[in-house]
Amino acid sequence: MSIDLKQFSALQKASKDSFFEQKKLLKQVMLGKTVLCSVCRQPLKLYTPEQNEPTGVRCVKGCTDISLDFV
Ligand SMILES: [Zn+2]
Repeated sequence: MSIDLKQFSALQKASKDSFFEQKKLLKQVMLGKTVLCSVCRQPLKLYTPEQNEPTGVRCVKGCTDISLDFV
């Protein structure tokens, strides 16, 4: 099996971009701003360790699901 290096770097760039997008999104939600899911247009909700839920930012439908690590 061979890996197409061009494809590989494109993939890396895409995941890097989405990483920054997620960070930006998380920051806004944490600041208490209303951020809508890009898929279902429902407001995203922040889940913290105090709630008995996996921590992260999710929409009701689950199309946006960003996990957070509260260390
Ligand atoms: Zn959604």
